[in-house]
Amino acid sequence: MRILITGGAGFLGSHLCDKLLAQGHEIVCLDNLFTGSKDNIAHLLNHPKFEFVRHDVIDPFKYEVDQIYNLACPASPPHYQYNPIKTTKTSVMGAINCLGLAKRVKARVFQASTSEVYGDPAVHPQPESYWGNVNPIGRRSCYDEGKRVAETLFFDYHRENKVDIRIVRIFNTYGPRMHPNDGRVVSNFIVQALKGENITIYGDGTQTRSFCYVDDLLEGFVRLMAQTETIGPVNIGNPGEFTMLELAENVLKLTKSKSKIVHKPLPADDPKQRKPDITLAKKYLKWEPKVPLAEGLKQTIAYFKTKV
Ligand code: NAD
Ligand code: UDP
Repeated sequence: MRILITGGAGFLGSHLCDKLLAQGHEIVCLDNLFTGSKDNIAHLLNHPKFEFVRHDVIDPFKYEVDQIYNLACPASPPHYQYNPIKTTKTSVMGAINCLGLAKRVKARVFQASTSEVYGDPAVHPQPESYWGNVNPIGRRSCYDEGKRVAETLFFDYHRENKVDIRIVRIFNTYGPRMHPNDGRVVSNFIVQALKGENITIYGDGTQTRSFCYVDDLLEGFVRLMAQTETIGPVNIGNPGEFTMLELAENVLKLTKSKSKIVHKPLPADDPKQRKPDITLAKKYLKWEPKVPLAEGLKQTIAYFKTKV
């Protein structure tokens, strides 16, 4: 197949390019390089089945493709809050442009949605049927509400125009090629530990997240796109739940670092807990994560050792 990946030069997108090329597909990788980088795809630039296009998803684009994966959007809070209006535009206009193209060329189209659509969840763990608890006017809203509108657009194009959609709700994912300065907790802690700097825990560190290794996540993406039982939304994430204090202790142990833990103020609207209910992924995709946190952290630490 010929497959378009928007956001293909980012952390997840570049691994997806690798995976789909290895399966023999042709890839068009579209990215404006806002948070992504040519380094992530440097090894692919001479591949005969790989094409890179520098383009912004808020402007229309046309390619004859069989499938579209829409991943273009800054994902870490400091990056998506840098220009919040642009973040909402990217989610909304990017979705409209992908859906318009999918409608025209009859391509199956995938949306990288997020556990942020659940906001600061009052239901735990979060099943797809939970509608969420999202602040519409806060600092995280540009991202959360942008992604919620994108889901709405996907379902309306599906109902109105029979567009063949798939939606994944991604829970916190980590691995090699995360941006070292993107401010996300796994990259922050590893970089701080490797440099011997203080480990910055926001708040008291009892808030929880569930961390999925990138290889596990992408297997879920490809399975969702390959089947016709469900269009989603389907949660993909690792149900193992850790406090930020536990994560810091794991990183300190695996890096053998002498860094000290310090506490900083908790950002506004920071969700207190998050853990996916993956019943649907197990049922429809026969998917569940395989890589334990300690193993995934080892791979990620090995990558960051080459970068810092
Ligand atoms: P990332 O920042 O590494 O990748 C995003 C990519 O999109 C980058 O290459 C960036 O340059 C590109 N991009 C941003 N705005 C663009 C625009 N207007 N036009 C074209 N390209 C644009 O982040 P990631 O972690 O790889 O996330 C990929 C997708 O997965 C995002 O849609 C994100 O919301 C979603 N997601 C990720 C996580 C996670 O834990 N990594 C969790 C939930 C959802
Ligand atoms: N966090 C932290 N120290 C950091 C970066 C993040 O304690 O240096 C916390 C953050 O407040 C949040 C959790 O780690 O509670 C996950 O943050 P991240 O930005 O990685 O993802 P998200 O909040 O979007 O799930």
